[in-house]
Amino acid sequence: MTKAFIFLGPPGCGKGTQTELLAKELKLPHIDTGSLLRKNIKEETEIGIIAKKFIDKGQLVPIEVVTSVIENRLKSSDCKNGFVLDGFPRSLEQAHSLNKIINNLDFKVELDAIYFDIPVEVLVERLVNRRSCPKCGKIYNLKTNPPKNQNLCDDCNVELIQRKDDTKETALLRFETYDKETRPLIGFYTSRGNLKTVNANQAIEDVWDELIQTIKIRV
Ligand code: AMP
Repeated sequence: MTKAFIFLGPPGCGKGTQTELLAKELKLPHIDTGSLLRKNIKEETEIGIIAKKFIDKGQLVPIEVVTSVIENRLKSSDCKNGFVLDGFPRSLEQAHSLNKIINNLDFKVELDAIYFDIPVEVLVERLVNRRSCPKCGKIYNLKTNPPKNQNLCDDCNVELIQRKDDTKETALLRFETYDKETRPLIGFYTSRGNLKTVNANQAIEDVWDELIQTIKIRV
């Protein structure tokens, strides 16, 4: 049985940082829909042109678009040993699509859903201070997890960038979308008996400790 993880939580809750760590630790692919969509935008693909309109407004990209991105990715042979999904599913409709995609794969998947619990009030501040390295993708926070040298990636020494949708205005729209579309997934996975909750309102290392204890992996 292939073990896979999905992560739920509001924008800025730290999913990106923790899922990346988890994927590295378990040597599994880290599949992040937001990054896959941003890559398409950068490369000006057909998917990217559609996605940009929605991302800039803090709205969900249409389900057909994200589903095709995920379906293609999960068919790759590197997913056979498991995968870490970050940012998908983000609505009940997407959760049903994920079930269908998984049922059509030629291997059996056992899903664990992990919810990052954090009060929304602390998140706007986190989002507007978030920066990332355009080369390696490492995520920083100018206040709580700053780079050693001003605005330069510790590992690559290139200038950090801010996501266009990490402005206060778009962040607020993203929270509205989260409340309406994504929050209902907490009830959905709770009722299926496979939701685990992690307190995400802690330092990165403490969230990581709680996460590995919650999903019972050893590091
Ligand atoms: P993220 O990097 O996860 O914060 O995602 C950035 C933006 O990409 C979101 O605000 C959405 O516009 C879009 N996006 C990412 N994942 C999905 C998804 N599963 N469904 C629809 N839109 C998505």
